[in-house]
Amino acid sequence: MIVMKFGGTSIQDAVSIRRVCQIVLKNRQKQPVVVNSAMGKTTRNLLKIGQLAAAGDSESAQEELNTLVAYHQRIIGELWPHPDEQPLLAQLDSFYTELFQLKDGVSVLRDLTPRSQDKFLAYGELIATTIMTAALRTAGIDAVWCDARELVITDDRFTGAAPIQELTYSKMQHILIPFVHNGQVPVIQGYIGATRDGATTTLGFEGSDFTAALIGAALDVEDVQIWKDVPGVMTADPEIYADPWTVKKISFEEAAELTFFGAKVLHPSSIAPARQKNIPVHVLNSKLPEKGGTELSANGIVSKYPVKSITYKRPVILLVMQNMHYLPFHDYFKMVFDGLDRERLVPYLVNIAEGSVKMVLNTASNLQHLIDDLGQWVQIDMIPNKATVTLVGQAMIEHPDIAGRILKCLDEISLDLISHGASNMNSTLVMNADTVETAVDRLHREFFQVRDPELFETM
Ligand code: ADP
Ligand code: MG
Repeated sequence: MIVMKFGGTSIQDAVSIRRVCQIVLKNRQKQPVVVNSAMGKTTRNLLKIGQLAAAGDSESAQEELNTLVAYHQRIIGELWPHPDEQPLLAQLDSFYTELFQLKDGVSVLRDLTPRSQDKFLAYGELIATTIMTAALRTAGIDAVWCDARELVITDDRFTGAAPIQELTYSKMQHILIPFVHNGQVPVIQGYIGATRDGATTTLGFEGSDFTAALIGAALDVEDVQIWKDVPGVMTADPEIYADPWTVKKISFEEAAELTFFGAKVLHPSSIAPARQKNIPVHVLNSKLPEKGGTELSANGIVSKYPVKSITYKRPVILLVMQNMHYLPFHDYFKMVFDGLDRERLVPYLVNIAEGSVKMVLNTASNLQHLIDDLGQWVQIDMIPNKATVTLVGQAMIEHPDIAGRILKCLDEISLDLISHGASNMNSTLVMNADTVETAVDRLHREFFQVRDPELFETM
């Protein structure tokens, strides 16, 4: 058995959907279970519609929802040009009806609660999987639509719910395995689940990868495949660097480190269930399915290269705190970290020198609370528009010259903070947001010169 997860960009139009069907068809012998995100930018659009409705702009909400339905209908029209051939129409119609009703409800209440937001956003995946199931059937695959709300049972922290692992695994085993043994291909929504009482929940950012990993772990599959529109995990984000390589093998630790420091390609916690059970994860390109992509596994591969990938995060905020009243160090640090705890803020880089503390945080609305909270004792400067650039590689520790090389090639780029070796496999630099491109470009040239074909592939 394998899990095949297709992200939004891999199913954003009819051509992509047909391509995905061929990929599933090719892997039919491996007994795939398919997981889908919402199509294209649907989730983002639904959120916008919900917010418009809640803000009282019901006219715009209606218009945007019409546009979104038309987008899906256009794809259906391309996949099945004759309306009487269009399968699963009844299911789609009922989803559309519920979606319009919900939007009206939000408009009347003028309130998009986390609970109603989850219910609303879930339709992106519900609709996408309905279309995918039908497309797979048209391609000759015996696909069955499954409802993730009967499989992924979560707590009730709406918008970021946590699956109740044992319950979820047992539901997945009971519901999915018989289909697979029967030669059928279950198609499941990523990202969504439900509480024990049946209220729809979502799993938070990159939740579809999470669903894929959960199914992989529950069914003890051979492989979890995450299909994207990039060739795999790359040596740099192709969006800002023109010529990155694909990293063929990477350890779970390296991947987690990369995503923690911003690589959008996977979410760190999302693949944890696969990692716990030591199931390999492959990141593959739905546009070039014959390429090998990236394999994430427990040991990865130790190479002669110190660095496997360079990532960045921006914008981030740099907080600079001074111990204004010369409090005893112990009291001062306790106050700072208690303050973070109260606001549930997690800095992902901290640097301490005598009375000053520097830390890097995401832009968060409650940052101001922290500043108000501590302001009486601590002088805090909040510096926006910063970025982190991070080099990741397990072999880093064996290369004592690396810090020197990094600093040398970043010559004349002003750095606010340097953090080297906190995890033995990462080096992070804090700089102005607008110098990221230059820094990544120089670092890539420095650390990726002669390609080791065992480890890297060109795009
Ligand atoms: P999906 O729609 O499949 O979920 P995402 O948009 O979540 O895809 O992730 C793919 C994006 O991740 C790419 O568009 C790419 O710009 C970005 N990305 C950032 N860093 C990397 C990296 N190191 N390797 C590959 N992609 C990266
Ligand atoms: Mg994604």
